[in-house]
Amino acid sequence: MAGPIPLDLLPDTTDISSEGHTLIGGCDLLELAAEFGTPLFVYDEAHLRSRCREAVKAFDGNVAYATKAFLCTEMARLAYEEGMNLDVATGGELHIARKANVPGERIVMHGNNKSLEELRMALLEGVGRIVVDSFNELDRLEGLCADLNTSTKILLRVTPGVEAHTHEFVSTGQEDSKFGFTVRSGVAEEAVERARSSKNLELLGLHAHIGSQVFDVQPFAKAVGVLAEFAAPYNFPELVVGGGLGVPYVEGESAPSIQEWAAAIFDACSDAGVESLVGSEPGRSIVASAAVTLYTVGTIKEVPDHRTYVSVDGGMSDNPRPALYGSGYETFLPRSSQADRQNSVRLVGKHCESGDFLIKEAWVPEDLSVGDILATPVTGAYGHSMGSNYNQMLRPAVVFVSDGSPRLVVARETYEDLTRRDI
Ligand code: PLP
Repeated sequence: MAGPIPLDLLPDTTDISSEGHTLIGGCDLLELAAEFGTPLFVYDEAHLRSRCREAVKAFDGNVAYATKAFLCTEMARLAYEEGMNLDVATGGELHIARKANVPGERIVMHGNNKSLEELRMALLEGVGRIVVDSFNELDRLEGLCADLNTSTKILLRVTPGVEAHTHEFVSTGQEDSKFGFTVRSGVAEEAVERARSSKNLELLGLHAHIGSQVFDVQPFAKAVGVLAEFAAPYNFPELVVGGGLGVPYVEGESAPSIQEWAAAIFDACSDAGVESLVGSEPGRSIVASAAVTLYTVGTIKEVPDHRTYVSVDGGMSDNPRPALYGSGYETFLPRSSQADRQNSVRLVGKHCESGDFLIKEAWVPEDLSVGDILATPVTGAYGHSMGSNYNQMLRPAVVFVSDGSPRLVVARETYEDLTRRDI
């Protein structure tokens, strides 16, 4: 038995109407489902803007939104409008950022295996920083700069050898990683020497990202200590500590705010005598709890002596995180948002896999029925962006809601879209 959905898992502007319906941005979720169909990503625009502003303030403007968490043209525009730079990790993300008219110099280019084409694109678009990840990339970039008769500002991504205490798939600061130059082995030092001797590359400093969905500020402070010690002889003007701040997904979890995370990083920098500009790249903490996903319940099946399966019209194609990382979520019915949730069920999608579940043990009100609109909160990060067309499912629409009005920012795919690239 669980009580009503905790309101602190819902977007900032969540309200309950006199009939008990959930409103976000002044819009009734049931009306949004009727107007735009399901599955549907609903983002609270005020929530997004407020997290961007909090980050810009906490890092004094030295902050990039990590677009991998959730990207569409409107999101790129919004983050830029709110004063953030944009972190992109592929040519595709760079393309969308530029389509949104984010100036090249406000974009940071990442990636552990950037192709020549992606690096060329980054140079031609004049990205502000390229975060170099390997010696091969140093070679490629120097060659390209020479060919194009240009130069570029770079940071070197280093792995500080810090465990982030998160899922191994999103842990990146440990030495045994595909990302970056290891500090302890001396490889990072070699990379610094190489970059400093290059005439086309202007090395501004170091970058590290220890992992994602990290609840504790301690590993960030530890990483700062390692980076500061390594960087001390070089007097670099910049240090970027990556993203990774965790967010609560289920009842009982708690995480530092962006402001608290920044304070811990700045304290660690000041303890370590860091004098460079300190920047960060949050993704999840900007967008995760800004959104809920709406689904329609299609089938309810009881398996005697086992459990009840509740199937909805989406699944691992709009939220692969449960299958990929075993991530937990909560759910509720927007028609009676404050109802107790008496029954435990398994919430599953409609894909041809037993691993296609959204919530292994979901608490739902006892009157849940076929046709109900059901919501899963905290689905704003790494859902839409990691989604797929598995089983040729149509990728959902995305609406931003604000002041009582919905704004469609990504249209639902159509069957025609599915064959658009077929020859
Ligand atoms: N920066 C880099 C280099 C990353 O790889 C990631 C995520 O993988 C991020 C920032 C954003 O992390 P998060 O969404 O956990 O804040």
